[in-house]
Amino acid sequence: MLKCFICDENNKTEEAVGICIVCGMGLCMEHAQRADLEIWEGKYPMPVKAKKFDLPRFLCEYCIESTYIAID
Ligand SMILES: [Zn+2]
Ligand SMILES: [Zn+2]
Repeated sequence: MLKCFICDENNKTEEAVGICIVCGMGLCMEHAQRADLEIWEGKYPMPVKAKKFDLPRFLCEYCIESTYIAID
């Protein structure tokens, strides 16, 4: 079973409910951030076309942070 990476860093064990679409780390409900993203449209240097995804998209807090930095 996939574990939440951030919880694991804090010596907790939580089952992951999603995966960060950028770095691929497992994320639990508490740490998964829904990526609702106009901001993906050509903004982030990743080969991601937001419109192609029908599945929920998640980001970890680290990638959320660096994404906002990239936008600023
Ligand atoms: Zn977690
Ligand atoms: Zn990430």
